[in-house]
Amino acid sequence: MNQTKNIAFIGLGNMGGPMAANLVKQGFTVTAFDLSVPMLENAVAAGCQKADSAHAAIEGADVVVSMLPSGEAVRALYLGVHGLLQAMDSKTLLIDCSTIAANDARQVIAAASERGIDALDAPVSGGTAAAAAGTLSFMCGGEQNAIARARPVLEAMGANVFHAGPAGSGQVAKICNNMLLAIHMIGTAEALQLGVDNGMDPAVLSEIIGASSGGNWSLERYNPYPGVMENVPASREYQGGFSVALMLKDLGLAMDTAAGSASSTPLGALAKNLYQLHGGDPINSALDFSSIQNLFRRPVGD
Ligand code: NAD
Repeated sequence: MNQTKNIAFIGLGNMGGPMAANLVKQGFTVTAFDLSVPMLENAVAAGCQKADSAHAAIEGADVVVSMLPSGEAVRALYLGVHGLLQAMDSKTLLIDCSTIAANDARQVIAAASERGIDALDAPVSGGTAAAAAGTLSFMCGGEQNAIARARPVLEAMGANVFHAGPAGSGQVAKICNNMLLAIHMIGTAEALQLGVDNGMDPAVLSEIIGASSGGNWSLERYNPYPGVMENVPASREYQGGFSVALMLKDLGLAMDTAAGSASSTPLGALAKNLYQLHGGDPINSALDFSSIQNLFRRPVGD
């Protein structure tokens, strides 16, 4: 039987807010802390208890979940003399769902282990819609025992829980996936534009490629050409979805990881370069990543 009742949730932003709300809906008592007062107030409106600090949030917690913007923020939260690890009971389980460098995740998990605390990295795939719907995929890195303990909590927020391997493996899986996503999104945009520039209807071309060997997720589920598919960012001027800025963050992590393992990732490097070119304009940076289509489109009247 699952004994976990009390969860401390740190970082209630676009992802963490709806994730914490789903934990409340599943009957957990969630004590929330965020540096941003409006984000914390949203979490309270969704049924979370409010804490005045991260240290206050973890008092009496069975599980600590964090969903923060960067490795720097995660290390600052847990490590050092003022870090949460110093204050956490050894029976507490630590689940960090932030997307950060695998080495940062390994450092935090190793420090937790030194104090006898079970910990795992559990970055997510699915974005804000899946966070709200409770259908996220969790890619977990850590000991089997830690993953087993985390499973009921993760299943309250997601549809899939994968054990990727030892500590840091969740982060490795996440950046491999997102590097490939960037590459096939760019390839799809390039191919669709080539067809359009040669007189084809992008919807007809998408149907043909989707039934042929060029078919892929970007084309068939997240088509970047406006008007081809309903309910995707391309058909609402690339608003919402997964921003160019966040894709650039993940491509940066992928390139750092590749440098660390001396892996050859020429297409990943090119994808990062193209997203940098596109996202250099702050307007594009906030748009969904499928807006890379605009890099290939000719101005109207050309
Ligand atoms: P966000 O910026 O909306 O939320 C982060 C929250 O953390 C903010 O509310 C911020 O105030 C808070 N915060 C920062 N430092 C803190 C600290 N020390 N203590 C307490 N709160 C702190 O970001 P997000 O979109 O929710 O993303 C969170 C993580 O999820 C990131 O690592 C991101 O890469 C990853 N992710 C995001 C998406 C997405 O579509 N947004 C998808 C998959 C993964």
